[in-house]
Amino acid sequence: METAKAWLNKLKSKDKVKSSKKKETTSNVKEGPRTAGGEEALSNITKEKAAAAKLYIENHYKMQMQSLQERKERRKMLEKKLAAAEVSEEEQNNLLKDLEMKETEYMRRQRHKMGADDFEPLTMIGKGAFGEVRICREKGTGNVYAMKKLKKSEMLRRGQVEHVKAERNLLAEVDSNCIVKLYCSFQDEEYLYLIMEYLPGGDMMTLLMRKDTLTEDEARFYIGETVLAIESIHKHNYIHRDIKPDNLLLDKDGHMKLSDFGLCKPLDCSNLQEKDFTVARNVSGALQSDGRPVATRRTQQEQLLNWQRNRRMLAYSTVGTPDYIAPEVLLKKGYGMECDWWSLGAIMYEMLVGFPPFYSDDPMTTCRKIVNWRNYLKFPDEVRLSPEAKDLICRLLCNVEQRLGTKGADEIKGHPWFRGTEWGKLYQMKAAFIPQVNDELDTQNFEKFEETDKQVPKSAKSGPWRKMLSSKDINFVGYTYKNVEIVNDDQIPGIGISLNPPSFAEEEATLLVVCLVIIIACLLHL
Ligand code: ADP
Ligand code: MG
Repeated sequence: METAKAWLNKLKSKDKVKSSKKKETTSNVKEGPRTAGGEEALSNITKEKAAAAKLYIENHYKMQMQSLQERKERRKMLEKKLAAAEVSEEEQNNLLKDLEMKETEYMRRQRHKMGADDFEPLTMIGKGAFGEVRICREKGTGNVYAMKKLKKSEMLRRGQVEHVKAERNLLAEVDSNCIVKLYCSFQDEEYLYLIMEYLPGGDMMTLLMRKDTLTEDEARFYIGETVLAIESIHKHNYIHRDIKPDNLLLDKDGHMKLSDFGLCKPLDCSNLQEKDFTVARNVSGALQSDGRPVATRRTQQEQLLNWQRNRRMLAYSTVGTPDYIAPEVLLKKGYGMECDWWSLGAIMYEMLVGFPPFYSDDPMTTCRKIVNWRNYLKFPDEVRLSPEAKDLICRLLCNVEQRLGTKGADEIKGHPWFRGTEWGKLYQMKAAFIPQVNDELDTQNFEKFEETDKQVPKSAKSGPWRKMLSSKDINFVGYTYKNVEIVNDDQIPGIGISLNPPSFAEEEATLLVVCLVIIIACLLHL
């Protein structure tokens, strides 16, 4: 490969010959020679601009070489891992091929910088604290995607721009079966856009609202797939921390995929102290003098109706629902992967009972109930559950030390409730419910949203946001960022990229240098 220097020298000598030839002809044909001073001034400007172009080209090549090197390292790392794992040669080759394909696709997408203009926004399918989700069609290819549009100011205001770097390499290996794919991301002045695969089966929250409760067999299928999804992210040292039915999406065949990594909206309990949680005196979460909960007067059916009435409102509220958050997360005491297994227990309870275990009309009371789970975890008398189901729920909704999954997903997979589950075939088998999907733009499995202020996305290509989600840490396989709230962030170098746009954005710099190169070329040709 030619070095930037050689390339530049070549360009210079070529242009010297050309310009001297041109000078000769112009001086012969036209008015007369230029002044020496004019030529001197011109060459100084040219020199400066050429120096800028040289720097740009050198940096460009340097970065290219670096990403090539990183690509090689990723391959080596995967080769090493595959050699250590007991994987057949054929499977090893397939996985390596797969990696190469993803790398190439990623490079292609990097070259073509996408912008909101490249997509036609269509029906809205989700609304959240930071923005909205719509299906959209890529103009160039006609492909349909889900576009999540997040308001940057809102994210900044709520301090939600946590980003964990250096995960792209790991994510390249995450089992993409269980994770919603993120194809690309870009931004304009106001919004960050995420372009994901569109899962037309709807989300688990909607399914649960339609079905009230699931049978144990149906629940086993979804809980089983959730176990696999959580396991696959944990294997790569990811913690989701916001696992709840709204973030479990269903594909056209009814299989489940985990989504919404990182840009979650945890309930703001920052103004609450531990004592606030332990002194439970709220109406719906009142304790008796012996610490036992006051018997709830609502029947299971009443509670279910109440829950369903409030559910969507909570989901779309700015705080989100705390119903699935583990106590250690709420208490901000530091936590690990086990918190995702707690959420799994809460979802399983909801699937079988109809509402989550610590439900209350008021989210703060839910928080209190969660941290006082010993007093509040109860099964309504009306609900008939197998002893195995009850046992599994209780072994997930408990202290970290006792919680199943703490020593790995196999602990959960081996629980008697899952007896007979063929874990390796779960994603190949027929789903518990097959969603009705008539065509690629069908949104019948989603809530209908009113179009209040449908905005045509402003034209913008990538910028600092893209930078934030690009290169080493991007997600060409799945979401790359997550909310791993580790107690002391500065122990982990590279975590937490600021949202403040750099004063001189990458795009602007590129544009300027391109202009400079054009100007130089024109000048050299004069
Ligand atoms: P939020 O951060 O607001 O919770 P989510 O990413 O969870 O945002 O999206 C909100 C809702 O939009 C989801 O619950 C789901 O119904 C829908 N949704 C999000 N992403 C997709 C997708 N890729 N395919 C289909 N529906 C999606
Ligand atoms: Mg969500």
